[in-house]
Amino acid sequence: MGIYAPGKEAGRLSFFSLYTLQHRGQEAAGIATCDNGVAHIHKGQGLVATVFNEDNVSTLKGDLAIGHTRYSTTGGTGIRNAQPVIMETIDGPLGLAHNGNLVNAHLLRRQLLERGVGLQTSSDTEVMVHLLSAASGDWLNRIKSLMTQAEGAFALTILTRDAVYGVRDPWGFRPLVVGRLDDGYILASETCAFSAIGAEFVCEVEPGQIARIDANGLHIEQGAVPKQRAFCTFEQIYFSRPDSIYGGNLIHSTRQRLGRELARENPVDADIVVSVPDSGTPHAIGFAQEAGIPYTEGLTKNRYVGRTFIEPTQQLRESRVEMKFNPLKDNLAGKRVVLVDDSIVRGTTSGPLVQMVRNAGAAEVHVRVACPAITDPCYMGVDMASSDELIAGHKSVEEIRQHIGADSLAFLSIDAMMRGLEAEDGYCNACFTGVYPFESERFVQLELRPKEQFANVWGD
Ligand code: SF4
Repeated sequence: MGIYAPGKEAGRLSFFSLYTLQHRGQEAAGIATCDNGVAHIHKGQGLVATVFNEDNVSTLKGDLAIGHTRYSTTGGTGIRNAQPVIMETIDGPLGLAHNGNLVNAHLLRRQLLERGVGLQTSSDTEVMVHLLSAASGDWLNRIKSLMTQAEGAFALTILTRDAVYGVRDPWGFRPLVVGRLDDGYILASETCAFSAIGAEFVCEVEPGQIARIDANGLHIEQGAVPKQRAFCTFEQIYFSRPDSIYGGNLIHSTRQRLGRELARENPVDADIVVSVPDSGTPHAIGFAQEAGIPYTEGLTKNRYVGRTFIEPTQQLRESRVEMKFNPLKDNLAGKRVVLVDDSIVRGTTSGPLVQMVRNAGAAEVHVRVACPAITDPCYMGVDMASSDELIAGHKSVEEIRQHIGADSLAFLSIDAMMRGLEAEDGYCNACFTGVYPFESERFVQLELRPKEQFANVWGD
């Protein structure tokens, strides 16, 4: 996110906005500000509430700020790769916060190293900072130059001496929205960041656009020719907060529609519909409405344990399932249960959850999933980098059913998902179809090469 807030503490406002964007990354958080050409930054590992306190927030002076919560897809999880990345340039401070993943980062990285540029991190974000710093012209032209070189998913906020820029890649993989805040503006991945500071939605930054917010107000222009729009479907299904709005639709309502499609396509005789909370809840409500089966809570969630999918290692993911959920035995005992989840990625949580519902006395457990089977890796910013890690990448639906121990299992079809999204195209569905929105040879190389291609001196 980024803020221009004349006469206000942009760093403090960023802190409150980052709080609402916590679900997008839990490994690290950071805020950088600029005050009359002087940069301030604080970042650290962990949750926003852990990283920031009154002492460090009060040092973040200035009315320009950018902020970030990190969930690693390129580069390791260490503090070295926390964002924003900030450096001094001939034109003053330059800070960058990046959501997404460049598919040609390894090539750009190599080009920089060959030119003698040293790199301090293993993330693609630092690569972009160097490309911006080395380009010629004003910041707008430098950003346009970056947009011709960077390939893949990038929604950026960029901090300079006198403006904050928001940039969205030409495919529009990741969301970026603009809000109005009194005499200033805010840029953020989701509209949920606005309500925390009293900002009002203005518009989305469209694919290939650059938005500048500064003392002259809001200025938006096309920075690169837009490609075939490829907004990440997974944002709608899982990633975004249900109270955020995309394309004029509340994400919660979109998820209910997906649940209704799921019920129409994969009906089941059952007594109750139960969600895997919290991300499966809107889908389960939609399923229950369409099926005419009562929705009830069957699992309680400890909300102080982070998202399991987003944790960086398999071991951490597995150990958190039992800590995270507890069954409500009175609601489940003797019942034929439809257990609705938003997605099955690695299959790590599904098996233990089905067993948990059975142990609580359920007579049958039918799992319904509100998106298609995820068969292919994402290279555009969601951490499912290897096919081996995806359960549907190497097992059939029947094999997955057996693996998780459900009485029946069904996924939403692509067609039904698109109906639920009220769209025919404009979405990336690569992780469901294996059809990627790139024709680039670079990307083919990326697909064929193992993760080790990212190897660097830090080994991450
Ligand atoms: S591959 Fe899947 S997770 Fe990645 S951008 Fe496309 S829809 Fe989103």
